[in-house]
Amino acid sequence: MAKLKMNCAFIRPIVCGTIADRVGKRPLNTCHTIGVAQMSHKCPQCGAELLAEETCRARFDLCLALEYENPTAYGAVHHLTVTCYMLQHNMYSGDVWLEARNMLAQFLHEGVAPAEMRRRNRQKYAGERRQWSVTKGEKLSEVDAIVWSRTIADVRLDDPDAYCADVERWAASILADSQAIIYPGL
Ligand SMILES: [Zn+2]
Repeated sequence: MAKLKMNCAFIRPIVCGTIADRVGKRPLNTCHTIGVAQMSHKCPQCGAELLAEETCRARFDLCLALEYENPTAYGAVHHLTVTCYMLQHNMYSGDVWLEARNMLAQFLHEGVAPAEMRRRNRQKYAGERRQWSVTKGEKLSEVDAIVWSRTIADVRLDDPDAYCADVERWAASILADSQAIIYPGL
């Protein structure tokens, strides 16, 4: 596989590594023939409208594969894709969920670059032995109750510009939809 230059920031889930391994081992098929008669269903976690055999996880794998294969075009939003997927599927433990959301806000609203985020987090956690897990531990139950306005199903995969724009829209919608968790009074 070609050299990978990805933008994983602080909360790098295990999935990135495993996907990279898998991508290297199997040919990628991003071309799906979809029959018109296929039934759709909803992802129980994020509410995404999916085709019969599709899952959010499979779509996420496809996104990561595109990002690894095209680190400049698709991979430009890698730091957003991973955080969005993990946040929306409530995969982070409670404290980490809040921290990851805050990180997403800094990416989007303050224009913090992934490299800068890595530097900040290195400083923040320097010398500190992390005793907690990113994904294990109690989750925020409020997250499960959020009705999400955009999901991974809204991200177009066939064009890198559309892809990046859609991922950014998805990230912005996640911040908006989850505001009540951060500011319960609103
Ligand atoms: Zn989902």
